[in-house]
Amino acid sequence: AMAAMARALPRPGRRFRWRIWASAGGVRGAAGGAAAAQLGRKVAVVDYVEPSPRGTKWGLGGTCVNVGCIPKKLMHYAALLGHMIQDAHHYGWEVAQPIQHDWKKMAEAVQNHVKSLNWGHRVQLQDIEGALEYGITSDDIFWLKESPGKTLVVGASYVALECAGFLTGIGLDTTVMMRSIPLRGFDQQMSSLVTEHMESHGTQFLRGCTPSRIRKLPDGQLQVTWEDRLSGKEDMGTFDTVLWAIGRVPETRSLNLEKAGVNTNPKNQKILVDSQEATSVPHIYAIGDVAEGRPELTPTAIMAGRLLAQRLFGQSSDLMDYNNVPTTVFTPLEYGCVGLSEEQAVARHGQENIEVYHAYYKPLEFTVAEKDASQCYIKMVCLREPPQLVLGLHFLGPNAGEVTQGFALGIKCGASYAQVMRTVGIHPTCSEEVVKLRISKRSGLDPTVTGCG
Ligand SMILES: Cc1cc2nc3c(=O)[nH]c(=O)nc-3n(C[C@H](O)[C@H](O)[C@H](O)COP(=O)(O)OP(=O)(O)OC[C@H]3O[C@@H](n4cnc5c(N)ncnc54)[C@H](O)[C@@H]3O)c2cc1C
Repeated sequence: AMAAMARALPRPGRRFRWRIWASAGGVRGAAGGAAAAQLGRKVAVVDYVEPSPRGTKWGLGGTCVNVGCIPKKLMHYAALLGHMIQDAHHYGWEVAQPIQHDWKKMAEAVQNHVKSLNWGHRVQLQDIEGALEYGITSDDIFWLKESPGKTLVVGASYVALECAGFLTGIGLDTTVMMRSIPLRGFDQQMSSLVTEHMESHGTQFLRGCTPSRIRKLPDGQLQVTWEDRLSGKEDMGTFDTVLWAIGRVPETRSLNLEKAGVNTNPKNQKILVDSQEATSVPHIYAIGDVAEGRPELTPTAIMAGRLLAQRLFGQSSDLMDYNNVPTTVFTPLEYGCVGLSEEQAVARHGQENIEVYHAYYKPLEFTVAEKDASQCYIKMVCLREPPQLVLGLHFLGPNAGEVTQGFALGIKCGASYAQVMRTVGIHPTCSEEVVKLRISKRSGLDPTVTGCG
């Protein structure tokens, strides 16, 4: 998706002053535009949706509302509900088994909610025969009227794993095909636990594989041919749906930005910006997914938009701080994180100068339901030198987003390991396991939590 904001600066010696805020209708456009309007400015919101290769398009609100966070979280919740219904009989509920899921009903409810909120992307698939004709994207999955059936999800991003997670969770035969590592940019130990958990709950993985061809069979199924990059051999499988989740590219080319002197990164077409969000033309700004090097997350885009409006029109000089931005991957076992991954901390400070505290724990609700908690894991990455500044927190377990948000405040305020250890836990919760992280990796001790200690 793309958008840019422009302000025509008053020119010296001119009698009339023009200040224009123009933006596309994504979250950043809405937030920045609203903030500018509140400051008494005239605001124009321009929004155009380039249909997905499958033809899906939507109303105002940008990616998050229509084809991103909102429908994704609702479908993730639908899958979690299925698991809870399965757990319910352990708690005395009599639920007729096997339980059935109705895609049509879920899709309609989710789509109605998205429509009630309504007030680009182009996946680069031209090399793969049949990809555009027969594949769909994450934009389409949330708007499908019928169940996708047996699905191949191609990609290893959080979007790929989240989609594969909820499809598995509602009972569909789901396979993820990934070329290299899962969740690039995230802590790799945590990422491995995420995929390990998915695998143990029925999602199949084809690792080190890339698709080369899709053909439609006479019975309507899609025959996918792929190359196993390790063995160099070709393999084949049939699916009802192929879902591409291999990344989004901003549509800046059609804007002729070079004519205005706005520089983009030729590799990914993102707009180059500085700490003020200004492009190479100082009175043109870019915020959100379209800007180079920014996290592709709704709340960062919203905050950056508000701060820019305040700087431009409200005399504030506060810049957006892109450090320690918390986020959560809504896979079946949720992964929340804030700050540096262990790899980033080692690269920045050196292995010898960091201390990692960790624990495998069992959420209380898992016990009665006899659920496996092998991947419920927390680690806190700290500087080794006392008081051991917290560099990053990684939490894998239920409600990870809710757990991570509060700790993000502490980390933003410069919390140390010593301060976290002096924070009283809320019992019995999963969050309290964070304030009880006593075992360091360096000690080599078993980090499995065994009781209410
Ligand atoms: C499946 C999925 C799940 C996600 N889940 C999460 C999540 O859980 N949490 C989270 O924080 N983030 C999530 N994101 C990311 C989040 O949606 C984006 O970071 C956020 O929407 C970025 O906002 P934006 O305003 O920069 O861009 P967008 O929301 O994409 O808005 C840009 C707008 O500009 C319009 N536009 C494009 N080109 C033009 C043009 N030439 N002229 C006029 N208008 C144009 C587009 O149609 C769009 O409406 C998810 C994304 C996806 C795809």
